[in-house]
Amino acid sequence: MIDKMLRAAELGLCDHCLGRHFASMGHGLSNAERGMAIRVVWTMLTGRDYRPVGPEECPVCRGLFSKIEKYAEMAIEALSKYEFETFLVGSRIPEELEEADRRVAEELGTEPEPLKRELNREVGKIVSARTGKEVDFEDPDIKVIIDARFDFVELQVKPLFLYGRYRKLVRGISQTKWPVPALGGRSKYGTSVEELVAGPVMEAAGGTEHLFHGMGREDVDARMLGNGRPFVLEIRNPVKRSLDLEALREEINRRAGGMIEVLELRPATRRDVERVKSLRPPKSYEVGVRIEGGVGREELEDALRRLVGVIEQRTPTRVLHRRADLVRRRRVYEAELVDLKGEEAVIRVKCEAGTYVKELMHGDGGRTRPSLAELLGKKVEVKYLDVVWVHDEEVE
Ligand SMILES: [Zn+2]
Repeated sequence: MIDKMLRAAELGLCDHCLGRHFASMGHGLSNAERGMAIRVVWTMLTGRDYRPVGPEECPVCRGLFSKIEKYAEMAIEALSKYEFETFLVGSRIPEELEEADRRVAEELGTEPEPLKRELNREVGKIVSARTGKEVDFEDPDIKVIIDARFDFVELQVKPLFLYGRYRKLVRGISQTKWPVPALGGRSKYGTSVEELVAGPVMEAAGGTEHLFHGMGREDVDARMLGNGRPFVLEIRNPVKRSLDLEALREEINRRAGGMIEVLELRPATRRDVERVKSLRPPKSYEVGVRIEGGVGREELEDALRRLVGVIEQRTPTRVLHRRADLVRRRRVYEAELVDLKGEEAVIRVKCEAGTYVKELMHGDGGRTRPSLAELLGKKVEVKYLDVVWVHDEEVE
């Protein structure tokens, strides 16, 4: 090994690069200290003059490691605009440097620590010491990317995730800022649940963009009542991430002026986005219907009992333009009468995620079977529909 070191000392490498080729030796030393030690030993064993080599003259890094201080300052300057607890330094370096390093490794038969890792660690040490923030290799709040090819620093800021539940108290609001035409198209109020929730959060967090991940969504003309629908709000590039969530929740509700209400708001992670998007819990609905010609209470209650079980729904005509035409089997868990006055009835149903409840009532020209209309042998018109409970506690 000492032979390798003595040969390496004659290649004109800087201390950082010399030390990197022997990085597995000598715990607690930096590569620059290793490099200097090798050079001292070389001087003593060969009897020749000690001559340090700066990174500027180094044939491998070509000055890269003389910029550690400068990159650290650039990183600290960029980071100073953000609130964060943890960070990680990454880098992009010119391909020629890595090639030169490979040639030296082949010549010496060494396995050097990569150039990038040396740069990242040395810059990270300075940033950590001066900001008091910690390096996190797994999930840092901010990644600092040093681009050594063009001498700039770029930040990748972890989004802010907030979990909550919303109620939608009026009809005519879409869930997201990009309403789905088949669910009723553009909002009547010119806003959306997403915008009403995200507005105050964006102001408080100083983000650049927001995304709303709901656990499914209701039709634009349906209200969302009861325990509310779970969602995760994602704020991209937040400047601030420690927020008073209770004050924020109250502010959202105050500004929404009764259109929506957020029942809960707490910190979340990217994993919660996956969970909220993949869970498909049963839901309970309250449907107002008009039964043509009216119906007796017992007859209606009997029909509702027969509606419980497995039903078959062919893709409703109203969504055919965006969904494949096929038959889906869905389970209806409960169906009961809440109120009956003349031709008008209020019905509560609990069914599997993905059930088309309006079609379950009116039958969609026989495409949903059975349906309340079919069981009664009467024309059924849906007057309104509200989601009254999301049973996510049953699927978690
Ligand atoms: Zn070097």
